[in-house]
Amino acid sequence: MVIDMLQPVLQLILGFLFAALIAFAAYKARSLSRSGAWGALLEGTLIFGLGGWRWAVLLLAFFVSSSALTRTFAKRKAVLNEKFDKGGQRDIGQVLANGGIASIFAGLHFFFPHASWTWMAFAASLAAVNADTWATELGVLNPSMPRLITTWKPVERGTSGGISVYGTLAATGGAALIAVLAGLVRPSGTFWLVTGIASLGGLYGSLFDSLLGASVQAIYRCPYCDKETEKHPLHTCGTQTSQLRGWKWLNNDMVNLGCALLGAVIGIVL
Ligand SMILES: [Zn+2]
Repeated sequence: MVIDMLQPVLQLILGFLFAALIAFAAYKARSLSRSGAWGALLEGTLIFGLGGWRWAVLLLAFFVSSSALTRTFAKRKAVLNEKFDKGGQRDIGQVLANGGIASIFAGLHFFFPHASWTWMAFAASLAAVNADTWATELGVLNPSMPRLITTWKPVERGTSGGISVYGTLAATGGAALIAVLAGLVRPSGTFWLVTGIASLGGLYGSLFDSLLGASVQAIYRCPYCDKETEKHPLHTCGTQTSQLRGWKWLNNDMVNLGCALLGAVIGIVL
């Protein structure tokens, strides 16, 4: 009886320690900002501590692959970086937008240990944010200019809602990595069912991300550089940006959150 009660507490403590180790290493490696490290500690504790090792495998695959891609292409992207909302160091907003939904389902797994929908939602949500991150990191390497997903007009690299061949292949690879792992370490069901659902959730989630980016995401303009940007209130040059279009509350983090959420919903429904 005492052992039964101790086990979850022990797992939570181990989860916290493991999450602290990774968050600290990522902060030292400059993959996470200070606030981002706190966010990662929170999410890691929930996912490792309440989910367990299967859940840890998926979170680590997302975290390690996306950080590695960001670092690998940091120099090539430096020119384009001002077009993006944030630099290479992920802050708490980005960390929560990417892993917040997944953490909630790891928490729900603790209360519904025999349910399979928690795992499907968790896997599909991480597949979606991984697809989106890979597409963002690798899409900029596409030899020709991306096209806006809504109007199909060529747009500058890094423009929200722009899609390309490289970006789409990267999104597929990013979703597939998480989906295959989700199938391999699945707590129940068959490999193909779990992998198939997680892949679909991932792909639709990242498609939704591009659609929001092309339509209702808040886009700003820097009057000094005469450029469109996601940055607000200040551009990289220090000039105040003014809103060009989109919904003011729907910044890049909210768009990523929507991507993660849609992935999870598809994971549950299917
Ligand atoms: Zn500027």
